Amino acid sequence: MNQLKFSLAVLLLAAFSFSLSAQEQPLAEQGCGISIKSDWLTKYQAGDIPRAEKSLVTEYIPMRLVIVGETDGSGYVDPLKVLKTFQVLNEDFANSNIQFYLTSIDYLNKTSLYNHSTTSTGSNLAFRENQPNVINTYIVGTAGGACGYATPRTNYLIMDKDCMGTIDRTWSHEMGHVFTLAHTFYGWEGVGEISNIELTERAPNTVRYRGEDIPVERVDSSNCATAADGFCDTSPDYLMERWACTFDGIYRDSLTDPDSTRFAVNAGNIMSYVSDNCLGEDGFSDEQEMAMITNLAARNDFRSNTSGAGAVAANGEDMNLLLPENNATLENSDYVELHWNAVPNADFYIVQINTSTNFNGGVFNTYTTTDTTYTIEEDLTPNRRYFWRVRPVNRYLVESDFGEQTFRFRNGEFPVATIDAGLNAAITVAPNPVFGGQDLRINGQDLGENGTLTYALIDPAGRTMISRENIRVNASGFNERLQTSTLAAGVYFLRIQLNGKLVTRRVMVTP
Ligand SMILES: [Zn+2]
Repeated sequence: MNQLKFSLAVLLLAAFSFSLSAQEQPLAEQGCGISIKSDWLTKYQAGDIPRAEKSLVTEYIPMRLVIVGETDGSGYVDPLKVLKTFQVLNEDFANSNIQFYLTSIDYLNKTSLYNHSTTSTGSNLAFRENQPNVINTYIVGTAGGACGYATPRTNYLIMDKDCMGTIDRTWSHEMGHVFTLAHTFYGWEGVGEISNIELTERAPNTVRYRGEDIPVERVDSSNCATAADGFCDTSPDYLMERWACTFDGIYRDSLTDPDSTRFAVNAGNIMSYVSDNCLGEDGFSDEQEMAMITNLAARNDFRSNTSGAGAVAANGEDMNLLLPENNATLENSDYVELHWNAVPNADFYIVQINTSTNFNGGVFNTYTTTDTTYTIEEDLTPNRRYFWRVRPVNRYLVESDFGEQTFRFRNGEFPVATIDAGLNAAITVAPNPVFGGQDLRINGQDLGENGTLTYALIDPAGRTMISRENIRVNASGFNERLQTSTLAAGVYFLRIQLNGKLVTRRVMVTP
């Protein structure tokens, strides 16, 4: 009877595990591809490395993002998803007074890295792309079948793009490894699967992993400093596969330690393989945090050289889109140059272009740039309407909104009213760049018709600095002079209209 019940339970358990892993794709992929306990951590836990003081001021760690795509440039992760996950990463490290800031967002087109089947292949390929003095985060399509992986005491980690999002903590977990933390279930990686553990039977004194016998952690804390992850404030954990927690925040079965004591594995630690939805706000234990802080103080492969003085979120309300003018029809379908103003505190801009005003669904394309201009060089469909908007982003505090403006342009085959090729050819703006104080000349020749001329010089914030309206000009041409002595050095936009035809020019004023 008992035996029958037991087999039934095993069957049910097997069925349950199966449905869980099917349901949790791609989270069912193992959390992490490499697990090593570093010699540094072993020495630290033995007391051979003095603990650092927890810094009262925030330590800012430079982070380089590498968005990896296929060699043809397809497959990139959505940068908006990355920024959301970056916020979660910083929330997880806030209690340690550690914050990451973005030094650059780079794109790398390399199918062999984008889609790699083993962690050693990915590590080797990424290693060659590393930049020094920063933590390099590579975001790929397939990370060797893992959600992510990192090696302790290196300055890079690799993430699967499907393991990012507002509830996903893989990035925090891998960063824990970078700062030397081991899994809470360290040693059990070698056992392979939870189904290999006899839950009701006494666990062995040691488990074999990477050629070593790793002591199994006991419930009475007698060996917590040397067993498993070596931390006494993380609970015993033998679960080396992704697992779901119960409503009580534990594993659904009790386990049995080497002293035959039954215990529940607590959910909640980032360095375990519990499902992300079981993790609370503070997913690292105090001892894990002290180890990371101490390790950070000893690192020389990256350095914080900033006080974080620029950590002010950018505000989407300060965003003004400039060119092409809203509703413009463009003649040139090979490329489109977008311009907007420089927003205070913005270090990056996210540019979205779409074929409708609904940016919440599938967006045609998303770009990132540090400039206030972006040239779309993909083949835009001729005679089609496109909408675009821009979000300013601060490198420390990445939360921000898109500007409220959405501009549209028609990528027309035939010029309808605005950017006019004939007028464009007839107009010269010189000198450009122009020294402040020197006159800027607008010269028109052989206009083909008499008409009225209007022009405006607009600064990067979208303000009109100089303008004249309704000047009568005749077909042979005109000559206008703009005084630049009152203008600050920088980039300006000159809009010239003749009889409703439009020409725009970028003008640089130098000091
Ligand atoms: Zn891991």
